[in-house]
Amino acid sequence: MKKILRLILLVIIIFTLYLLYNVATFSGKQGEAVTVLSTVEFKQAANRLAGALRIPTVSHGKNLPVDSSAFVRFGRYLEENYPLTHARLTLKKFSAFSRLYHWRGTDSGRKPIVLAAHFDVVPVGEENLPLWNHPPFSGLIQNDTLWGRGAIDDKINIIAIMEAVERLLSGGFEPARDIWLAFGHDEEIEGTRGAKVMSAWMKEQGIRAEWVLDEGYAVLQDMIPGMDGPVAIIGTAEKGYATIRLSVSIIGGHSSMPEKETALDVLAGAIRRLKQNPLPARLSAPVRDFMRYIGPEMPFAQKLVFANTSLFKNIIFNIYSAKGSGNAMVRTTTAPTIFRSGVKENIIPQQAEATVNFRLLPGETREGLMQH
Ligand SMILES: [Zn+2]
Repeated sequence: MKKILRLILLVIIIFTLYLLYNVATFSGKQGEAVTVLSTVEFKQAANRLAGALRIPTVSHGKNLPVDSSAFVRFGRYLEENYPLTHARLTLKKFSAFSRLYHWRGTDSGRKPIVLAAHFDVVPVGEENLPLWNHPPFSGLIQNDTLWGRGAIDDKINIIAIMEAVERLLSGGFEPARDIWLAFGHDEEIEGTRGAKVMSAWMKEQGIRAEWVLDEGYAVLQDMIPGMDGPVAIIGTAEKGYATIRLSVSIIGGHSSMPEKETALDVLAGAIRRLKQNPLPARLSAPVRDFMRYIGPEMPFAQKLVFANTSLFKNIIFNIYSAKGSGNAMVRTTTAPTIFRSGVKENIIPQQAEATVNFRLLPGETREGLMQH
């Protein structure tokens, strides 16, 4: 008996040592942070971003008209605020508003890089206005927080790129390879007149980039389970996209004598079943990478888990599934977005329709989704 206990103890000790060894060798991969802007310069840059947010470059929807004066104004705003950039780089416009800048490097033998961003934003529904802490196009800076549509998506990237280029130019910097800046004006409505025509033109010119950096993710606070500090996330993959429309058609009638099941009941039931049967959780390659990088920065308990992901996979799934942002990282998500049915309070509608949007994990397919 004693022998067995001793053996069990030995196994536990070896197992614990194995876990701890993985923690000890799970080393940080963060580079040194360097401050390049003084407080005053930072404030000036923030003010320029705030100014950019005040110009309502709204993409209302595919084939819907835009307020072209706002888009023209935005271009002019860049020209006024980044004069060196506009003096030294060449600018080609596409579909009137999209802007492609070319910064020639000293070494034509190297492949160029492309920094991409977009300056259109999604509309704000009248009915949502009361929910905004500050008007969406106010560009208000209050207690070190900048408020406004486009602050994250995606004028921050336009302004950050412009700030960097202007600053580098003023310091006499010359890039070795060519740098292209591609600023689209219709990303929110599929980018068919912006990014698409810019990339087609570049292809025509035989320009092949070493790499392209586009809008990715933000600096997140309180959104990564187990992390207290801010986390700057670099998106290395994008989830897939699928939308399914559910439609039910059952004879309606008067609401004083409803049948057992109406079109709305059936549809509501279907949505409930979809939500109750989420797609299975999985650690995709980009998320595995994310954990390798973020794990070493976490408190001991979390570090232990992330240093041993294969052993603690289910714990990770449980923690991540608890919150929308975490859940989206480990599975294909299910989001009902539109319900359409009924016109009058006392009439049972014959038709009910729902739209459900899915975001697919890298590696998963629409076919697999339909099977599920
Ligand atoms: Zn965006």
